Amino acid sequence: MSEPQRNIEALLSERRSFPPPQAFRDRAVVRDPAIYETAGADHEAFWAEQAGHLRWSRIWDSVMERDAPWVTWFKGGHLNATVNCLDRHVEAGGGDKVAYLWEGEPGDARTITYGELLEDVCRLANALRSLGVRKGDRVNIYLGMIPELPIAMLACARIGAPHSVVFGGFSAEALRDRINDAEAKVLITADGAWRRGQVVPLKANADDAVRECPSIEHVITVRRCGNEHPFTAGRDHWYHELVAEQPPTCEPEDMEAEDLLYLLYTSGTTGKPKGIVHTTGGYLTQVAATHRMIFDIHDEDVFWCAADCGWVTGHSYIVYGPLANHTTGVMYEGAPDWPDKDRWWSIIEKHRVSILYTAPTAIRAFMRWGTEYPGKHDLSSLRLLGTVGEPINPEAWVWYWTVIGGERCPVVDTWWQTETGAILISPLPGITTLKPGSATIPFPGIAADVVDETGASVPLGGGGYLVLTHPWPAIARTIWGDADRYVETYFRRFGPDVYVAGDGARRDEDGYFWLLGRIDDVMNVAGHRLSTFEIESALVDDAKVAEAAVVSRPDDLKGEAIVAFVTLKTGFEGDGEMLAELREHVTKVIGPIAKPDNIIFTPDLPKTRSGKIMRRLLRDVARGNSLGDVTTLANAEIVELIHDMVETVPTDE
Ligand code: ATP
Ligand code: MG
Repeated sequence: MSEPQRNIEALLSERRSFPPPQAFRDRAVVRDPAIYETAGADHEAFWAEQAGHLRWSRIWDSVMERDAPWVTWFKGGHLNATVNCLDRHVEAGGGDKVAYLWEGEPGDARTITYGELLEDVCRLANALRSLGVRKGDRVNIYLGMIPELPIAMLACARIGAPHSVVFGGFSAEALRDRINDAEAKVLITADGAWRRGQVVPLKANADDAVRECPSIEHVITVRRCGNEHPFTAGRDHWYHELVAEQPPTCEPEDMEAEDLLYLLYTSGTTGKPKGIVHTTGGYLTQVAATHRMIFDIHDEDVFWCAADCGWVTGHSYIVYGPLANHTTGVMYEGAPDWPDKDRWWSIIEKHRVSILYTAPTAIRAFMRWGTEYPGKHDLSSLRLLGTVGEPINPEAWVWYWTVIGGERCPVVDTWWQTETGAILISPLPGITTLKPGSATIPFPGIAADVVDETGASVPLGGGGYLVLTHPWPAIARTIWGDADRYVETYFRRFGPDVYVAGDGARRDEDGYFWLLGRIDDVMNVAGHRLSTFEIESALVDDAKVAEAAVVSRPDDLKGEAIVAFVTLKTGFEGDGEMLAELREHVTKVIGPIAKPDNIIFTPDLPKTRSGKIMRRLLRDVARGNSLGDVTTLANAEIVELIHDMVETVPTDE
């Protein structure tokens, strides 16, 4: 048994719970809780059954083979991802079903059926082949959220060329580094992307990047915004000219299950992004199964995953999962507050969206803006809500459930990572009783545990390291070009059989998992190991607080002292009274041990470009250290501002 103080303490005790509404339960895709036992008794058999939902041109010889930490799934099996996402639906007569309902930021719109999508993908796939792209060659994609983005991904998958999508909000330098790491042969970009009424000059950025990318032979540019940009003869091609010459059919590359499907760099919350490698068969099996069961997909659903395809959420739940399941999806190009703060709600009303999947950072922004924006629209088409990306503060969960879901839509809080490829911990909405702030329990066929420093399982009620103790089909096979870093990051601490997620978690008496944020963010205050997330949630629990980030600084007496950065909702002021109120509130909600030593009111918090709070920078600020790497930050200026503020803020005691 480990010493109790080694474990992360549980502070927050959220007591609200929400069983599935009867009407939802009656129609749910998964209704029988026995699925957990069946899958748990034989993981391989469960995943093989899920793989059976796909079309394979050759059936696998073995379901799973393991030489820890290395693993293969469905070895010997052959398939093509696009045949599974497109051809088989069209052949079954489903070509007229809408694949994407696309909304441009300026107000233009496009509707693309499965039949049309297949033709568009084939044309671009042929064009790529005509430029010399062969199986195994990497293609970089740097686009905004336009239909050509999933088309480009799928065109690569059609011909077996792994894609590497770089989020369109990244700079030329970030793009350059990712292209060079992947040694891509072709770059697909656009003249520009719309963001808050402005044109982001993608092609100009791409030109800057490619100047220092010796591997790039061709650049394909989509005309989206009509802005001017330079053109390099021989290297540059217009997308529309290239595809116009191509036939609408294209022989798919017959891929092995373990062939690369794509590379994707992590969001870089903890440091230098890692080029995560995903393969074909296991990945597609798991994204399709999790999408169908967790989002309870029925034929008539309109599914909106409001992420960007530049992140793994977009790969798995805008492109591969939904298309494999023949789902109609919504895609939106622009900002949630353009032209006004009700844009999302107007899209939901217009397309009668039934399932919405977004991130806590967006939900907290909507909370800050106020209920009048969703209040202007008919959101009655919604029947299920989802969240991913960060732990969700119980207050934000309840706001989402009440204001957006009208108290009728289950909220699936889904825990996963770029490296896991697909969701691993999540409710099944027709079965699981929900608790706000908990991602609940592992998906069928997934084995997770919470362990202490020695690797021993922590009894229910305690906290520690979140680990996965059995391989799953969509796990990243390696880090591109850096197998040592793969082993070091995920499989060193507790040996090659145990995947270390890097997140802290605790389990309650019912075995529910409560994610506590990054293990590196855990604080040591007067001998107690505290999670920053629980203190943040206690702050957000105050009705005037929109967002909070908690870090520690060294303290002679307590080891570490607690520093809170707090953003208030519109209309409130961070004065001495507010400060006292918040410290009092935290004491009341979780106890005096968690009372912040300093509270700093800030207009915003530093976030990654995927919207996650970046605590490591705030820790540097609180400790007076020079700032670490800020290149993955979306709002670098806020760190400077907070830095200056901290120097002038006296300590509160
Ligand atoms: P890097 O690994 O480069 O630091 P990152 O971890 O932010 O970047 P992602 O793979 O996009 O990159 O994010 C995965 C992480 O997001 C998880 O490890 C976890 O910390 C957090 N996360 C995702 N979903 C949830 C969730 N539902 N609850 C709690 N945390 C979540
Ligand atoms: Mg990570």
